[in-house]
Amino acid sequence: MGEFELIRRFFLRPPAAGVELGVGDDCAVLAPTPGARWLVSSDMLVEGRHFLSTVDPGRLGHKALAVNLSDLAACGATPRGFTLAMALPRVDEAWLAGFSAGLWALADASGCPLIGGDTTQGPLNLCITVFGEAPAGQALLRRGARPGDEVWVSGRLGDARLALEAFRGTVALEGRGFEAVRVAMECPTPRLALGQALRGIATAAIDVSDGLLGDLGHILAASGVGARVDVDALPRSAVLAAQPVELQRTCVLAGGDDYELVFTAPPGARLPDVGVALTRVGVIEVEPGLRVVDARGERVDHGLRSFDHFKP
Ligand code: ADP
Ligand code: MG
Repeated sequence: MGEFELIRRFFLRPPAAGVELGVGDDCAVLAPTPGARWLVSSDMLVEGRHFLSTVDPGRLGHKALAVNLSDLAACGATPRGFTLAMALPRVDEAWLAGFSAGLWALADASGCPLIGGDTTQGPLNLCITVFGEAPAGQALLRRGARPGDEVWVSGRLGDARLALEAFRGTVALEGRGFEAVRVAMECPTPRLALGQALRGIATAAIDVSDGLLGDLGHILAASGVGARVDVDALPRSAVLAAQPVELQRTCVLAGGDDYELVFTAPPGARLPDVGVALTRVGVIEVEPGLRVVDARGERVDHGLRSFDHFKP
């Protein structure tokens, strides 16, 4: 199968609503909604770095798009389309069928059509760019947090890291517990509805991709503020809550790959109910820096850091 046959078989679909021209020409053509702004984000997934070579291709297709949609969610954007640039070592039809099925399922569920891409031979590498929209001036950014705002987290943190530790063999989980955290790692849910519902309510937002400490740290730095966070309040699954406290703290504070939203909002703000649990975990303060405390208010000396590709 050649390059174009591959694209036609796995990545070409009838034109989607809202796309003037999709896959097939030199460029895709999209009409912006009047009064809206484009929000654009790219994320790359490299084998061995972002995913294990043994991962199910359907879950990989889901995750490649999910991590990109999570950036749109963090900004309160509505998805409009995405491009897929991929390097493949060889044409493996069964792999492509699984990968594209996982990708299309999330694309359809999110109203985010595939509008173009690039396909080359090389070590497995996936790069997606998502295009979204938000009304002018309403995108959620990292820079709006103010002293007194509360810090909120969606869903649960730490399961993806716990799954990674189980794959590495540093923790032993029984079958059902392992499967539950493995789904969190391999099939994250981008919080698109929440992000859109937080427009005009949240003062700042980010998605947790590298770990809460670092990602909330980005909000604090961009906003010129600090925060106090209660590590015991950070939401976690029953599987994680059954682990030793030190491991729990590592997973919820510095785990990464969670794709939950962390946002700030003034006290008393009416938060949206979109069927995702929201947990208040801290407060924004004038003093710069992130202070982690336990349920009794005692400082926790965690010595943890978020993930950084170039800092071992
Ligand atoms: P060009 O040579 O002009 O860069 P290509 O030959 O790379 O175009 O691609 C042909 C068409 O197929 C283009 O519309 C491109 O956007 C699309 N395309 C290529 N690879 C993919 C892919 N993996 N997924 C979706 N569309 C793709
Ligand atoms: Mg090309």
